[in-house]
Amino acid sequence: MKNKTVTLLSQGCRLNHSETAGLINDFRNAGIEEVSMDQNPDIVIINTCTVTENGDKDTQKLLRKINQTCKNTKVALIGCQSQIKKAQLLKLPNVQWVIGNEEKKNTKNIVLGGESGVHVGKISNKPFFQTYSSFDPRHTRVNLKIQDGCDFYCAFCIIPFARGPARSRNFDNIIEDARSLIGLGVKELVLTGINLGTYENSGINFYELLETLLNLNLNTRIRISSIEPTTIGGKLIELWEKHPNFCRYLHLPIQSGTNEILTLMRRKYSIEVYDDYIKTIKSQLPEICIGTDVIVGFPGETDALFEKTVHYLNNAPIDYFHVFSYSERTMAHSRKFEHPVDKKEIKRRSEILRHLHAKKWADYLHNEIGKKRSVLFEQKKGDDWIGSTEHFVKVRLKSNENLKNNVVNVKLKDVRNQEMVGELA
Ligand code: SF4
Repeated sequence: MKNKTVTLLSQGCRLNHSETAGLINDFRNAGIEEVSMDQNPDIVIINTCTVTENGDKDTQKLLRKINQTCKNTKVALIGCQSQIKKAQLLKLPNVQWVIGNEEKKNTKNIVLGGESGVHVGKISNKPFFQTYSSFDPRHTRVNLKIQDGCDFYCAFCIIPFARGPARSRNFDNIIEDARSLIGLGVKELVLTGINLGTYENSGINFYELLETLLNLNLNTRIRISSIEPTTIGGKLIELWEKHPNFCRYLHLPIQSGTNEILTLMRRKYSIEVYDDYIKTIKSQLPEICIGTDVIVGFPGETDALFEKTVHYLNNAPIDYFHVFSYSERTMAHSRKFEHPVDKKEIKRRSEILRHLHAKKWADYLHNEIGKKRSVLFEQKKGDDWIGSTEHFVKVRLKSNENLKNNVVNVKLKDVRNQEMVGELA
């Protein structure tokens, strides 16, 4: 296939973004030109998400746009929606290929081979290798995939069906990728997976992998993306205390602030265990930023239970939260549950929690005023350089120096639009 052009787009989670970056490298290595959507590509590859109803809607919206602007473009839908919906997706406009999560790594060969159709098989539970680099030239921070799949089967979640069983990336393969990324000048690696804390390969567990990565280069920050509460323990606190390059940032999904709903959700912890863990962390690392995910309107969530969640989140040492409105997913166990919550009520409750999040996040940011933080700068917008602290606080500052991909000390001066304004320290 000569002179073909391709656009790769990613929807949903950090793991999808990491895989898309890898696929871009795979196409580049094959000499295929990657272009933007407005250059009328021959092929568009969309790495889809199906975690909520909105994920499915976003793909349909994107396909309508492609159909209006580039009628002859062929589309490959890859990833989670393809795994669940298979041939149904071939009916959507421009779609020529439907490629599942196991076959995704062969996307280049499938689309360049030209054979259209459904390529969705069973997902293996074996450890995996990644043959292409995780380097993402579009971003300063690189998502390093270490794990995939999940065996927990929380009642609301479609992910174990879409992503398959928990499996880990080969340890040596991760270290080789990480060394090469550090060699390319990458200053921050974000460990990415579906259920990170369950990592295990050749007797090496998540902590051992993490410590090896932290020791590779003391100037490379390591961040962990979302991690399940029951998969981590006190050892993580030891690593934070020992390694200054381990970002003081923890995203620990809580999903509900009541034991009644946590039990229905089949989560593996009680609110007391969760609370005890985050309080221990905050008491030992007071400046750590703790964030969470919460689902609003799970079946059986009464007004009183919702109020309990609001009360818990208001008082817990949690600095921000992402609010998800419950939506019924095919295959997820909770689709059969009684006592669904009315959609209008879910919207009302979501707004209450989003409001509370904004207040708590503003408090966290105001507390940062006057502090000196090291900031990794990623891009310039207008006159402002934009970067993030290790706590994942967005910082803007004006400077004539080229700060891209530099970690610089910044004095934080003010809060503006949920971000901080600083000056070089
Ligand atoms: S831990 Fe639960 S919520 Fe997270 S991916 Fe697994 S089943 Fe889904």
